[in-house]
Amino acid sequence: QQTAVSSGDGDSIKVFVRVRPLTQGTGLTTDGDQGMCLTVTSPNTIRLHAKPEPRTFTYDHVADVDVTQEAVFASVARNIVESCVNGYNGTIFAYGQTGSGKTFTMLGPSDSNSFTDDLRGVIPRSFECLFFLISREVERSGSCKSFLCKCSFIEIYNEQIYDLLDSASASLFLRENIKKGVFVEGAVEKIVTSAVDAYQVLSMGWRNRRVASTSMNRESSRSHAVFTMTLESKETVNEVVNIRTSQLNLVDLAGSERQKDTHTEGSRLKEASSINRSLMCLGQVIMALVDVSNGRSRHICYRDSKLTFLLRDSLGGNARTYIIANVHPGSKCFGETLSTLQFAQRAK
Ligand code: ADP
Ligand code: MG
Repeated sequence: QQTAVSSGDGDSIKVFVRVRPLTQGTGLTTDGDQGMCLTVTSPNTIRLHAKPEPRTFTYDHVADVDVTQEAVFASVARNIVESCVNGYNGTIFAYGQTGSGKTFTMLGPSDSNSFTDDLRGVIPRSFECLFFLISREVERSGSCKSFLCKCSFIEIYNEQIYDLLDSASASLFLRENIKKGVFVEGAVEKIVTSAVDAYQVLSMGWRNRRVASTSMNRESSRSHAVFTMTLESKETVNEVVNIRTSQLNLVDLAGSERQKDTHTEGSRLKEASSINRSLMCLGQVIMALVDVSNGRSRHICYRDSKLTFLLRDSLGGNARTYIIANVHPGSKCFGETLSTLQFAQRAK
């Protein structure tokens, strides 16, 4: 179970780089006017103003500051949602330093509690697309096909798993069995029958994440939030019942910034190292998968972190993966932007 099977097209992992506006919103906006550390030179190249020589990076897509949420969804998520309805697993990650736009990309503006405005992100748009495709499939099949859709929403903090849909529960464990693959034992699964239902589950979990970040001291920029839709389709053809299960994982990763404070001790230090560890493991798994899809045989260390083990069945093999690497264009963010561009490059 540790060696992924190549999908053959060498392209099961795609990388999308998104540049956030220099000054909008809060987060990393710094004092005074600052210069830009990069230029988007084409829809798939970015030039980093490095010294002494500028460096050019190439990805599947590069989105400049003016690219809309709708356009990001269309390039990144539509195909993955579609293949999920057809029975394949998929995962979308938002990677980047704190303040680079991960949550904006996945959810929408952080000050908004409505998932239905124009600035809504990839996750709410995926719900709409999913339920649209489901109803089309059901109609096409003349109602021989039906779908059951369940959501779970968990947070991984310090290599511990917390249920965002049940804030009272203690930390949970990963298990695996033949039928379900890897799963979080005891995590709440909510059945949803419409995009509106799914938004409600998402909002509830998101509120719980905010509360946990203040009352339990689980700082959300240091945790991974994983929203999972499990889709079960049932089709009856000539009295034979076919059941297929697929999963769509939408992941807002912990901030990728390096720990600057060398004086951190105790729990803070443990926190910093485990976050780095799970992002590092993710990087290693992705690099191994790239090798596998290029025909090399590699051992893939899914078990080295909670995040990669949880997503094992949705990374590699026939699964579709998109990494959205979010970067800040300000000169003061040069170092972190370079490190994000390099992380994203390794996935190619
Ligand atoms: P992260 O989740 O990576 O820490 P956020 O998504 O919270 O970053 O973004 C930080 C701030 O920048 C927020 O106020 C957010 O609304 C704003 N922002 C980020 N990306 C964009 C964008 N593409 N367009 C407009 N505002 C953005
Ligand atoms: Mg965030």
